[in-house]
Amino acid sequence: MNIARLKSEPEIFYSLQGEGARVGCPAVFLRLAGCNLHCSWCDTRYSWLTGCELAEADVAARVLSYACGSLVITGGEPLLQAASMERLLSLLPAEMHVEVETNGTVPPTPALAARVNQWNVSPKLTHSGNEAAAALCPAVLEAFLATGKAWFKFVVRGEEDWPAIQALQLPQQNIILMPCAATRAELDAARPAVAAMCLRHHVRLGERLHVVLWDDEKGV
Ligand code: SF4
Repeated sequence: MNIARLKSEPEIFYSLQGEGARVGCPAVFLRLAGCNLHCSWCDTRYSWLTGCELAEADVAARVLSYACGSLVITGGEPLLQAASMERLLSLLPAEMHVEVETNGTVPPTPALAARVNQWNVSPKLTHSGNEAAAALCPAVLEAFLATGKAWFKFVVRGEEDWPAIQALQLPQQNIILMPCAATRAELDAARPAVAAMCLRHHVRLGERLHVVLWDDEKGV
């Protein structure tokens, strides 16, 4: 499988989940290379490039070396490598908790829908700079919703983003709004307006714990 390369090394590391419903939980992170979108504010542009090719057995050994019961597969867009993910997960313990971060444009395969414990789906709104037809795929979001294990995380800039989110007709209790911020200073400035949006629309405020803790440092 193709793993994003950071400082010449495949990006597999141990940290705390920084976003979503399991924020703060320790996990091993595996960042896959390649993305089908090109968000203007993407904080992992290096993941768009071809990374390191590693056999799934090698990746599984590296993941297991951390002796942690949780794995977060992120990207890039991990589902572009669905077959490799299936092979990797078949090599890991069935009780390992697996989360996948996805942009919600590629539906999960049946095997992944069954095995993955939590889908962190982050559809991209127009301020990402992507064509709406490429970035917002209601039928794909429906497929994630049907797994019963999906959260929908939206990066927002302000109230003007709400109509596009509302139009997707997702369950309110599964929606998380996150400030558009790559640094601690940007996050502190953006958080109050997003908190007000969450109160107005009865949805959850998402923290970016890795930014709070480590600012814009990568691979942590
Ligand atoms: S979908 Fe994610 S990885 Fe891909 S360009 Fe957007 S922010 Fe970056």
